[in-house]
Amino acid sequence: MLHGAGGTVMHELVRNYIVKYFGGSGNAEVPLEALDDAAVIGDVVLKSDSHAVKPIFFPGGDIGRLAVSGTVNDIAVLGAEPYALTCGFVLEEGLALNDFERILASMQKTCQEAGVSIVTGDTKVIERGNLGGCIINTSGIGRRTSALEENFGVVKKFRRDFSARWILDSNLKDGDKIILSGTIGDHGLAVLSAQEGLSFGSSIKSDVQPLNRLIQRLLGNVGGIVAMKDPTRGGLADALNEFSEKSKTGILIHEEKIPIKENVRAACEMLGLDPLEVGNEGKIIIGVVKEKAEEILEMLRKIEEGKEAEIIGETTKDFKGVAMQTVVGGKRIIARPIGDPVPRIC
Ligand code: MG
Repeated sequence: MLHGAGGTVMHELVRNYIVKYFGGSGNAEVPLEALDDAAVIGDVVLKSDSHAVKPIFFPGGDIGRLAVSGTVNDIAVLGAEPYALTCGFVLEEGLALNDFERILASMQKTCQEAGVSIVTGDTKVIERGNLGGCIINTSGIGRRTSALEENFGVVKKFRRDFSARWILDSNLKDGDKIILSGTIGDHGLAVLSAQEGLSFGSSIKSDVQPLNRLIQRLLGNVGGIVAMKDPTRGGLADALNEFSEKSKTGILIHEEKIPIKENVRAACEMLGLDPLEVGNEGKIIIGVVKEKAEEILEMLRKIEEGKEAEIIGETTKDFKGVAMQTVVGGKRIIARPIGDPVPRIC
């Protein structure tokens, strides 16, 4: 199960097996081996994502909302606007038709929120087993927007040698600020409570939501963004390590700045989980030139999805990797987690 949990074990599987056979794939501008959130071929951003969350309904969301949001967000964090999705269903024998319909209605609603449509797909049914009802694959395409061009115009005012055409994990430079769009841990804890029948389930709700419209507003109205990521499996800890490794820069975050809801913090303490390693489905981490960080924060806080945003840290050349200034005054290394502590959260 750790091979699917978004930490070092999964990254090794991807590098040592998948990239070994499919890497070096010729004409992609952002290829498979970049291991970014999505690929770029020509001016098309392409993403494929299978969703196997268990259970299929959980506080604050369901597998259908997750499938649409997950794919939309991975395209959006490259700076692209997603516009069409494919949808492949693998249904388990015994899945109630009214549950299937609930999932479809939820997907329809989420597509409307994101402004995307499902244009092709496939349906299979397999014998009863351990699927938990269904698995959904959504793939999607996205395109460049004028907001993305405007964003890079702003970046180049402050960093004249900047030449990237997309928002990539590898674009950070010393001195950039790191912004988190809201609280962490909500999704993982909501799914865990549904899996285990834990009583806090009623108060902790998943944050699953599409963020493409929010991202386009930030790019077009403020700008200065160089890197972005949705901290899903492996949480904030895994995503920041991806940034640090690919950009070859240290990242220092400040514990007191990291937004965590009180009930999530309490549940994590009770269960012995590190909220930094728990997956999210409705948050983004933004790397921005320092001159625009306050403006990005201000704009985020005016929008519902970003109202609890904080500047949580900055890049640095003082050390390699990721470290956290703790509330008690020390520094703690934030290593890449072995895997997300909650299984099958997406
Ligand atoms: Mg992602």
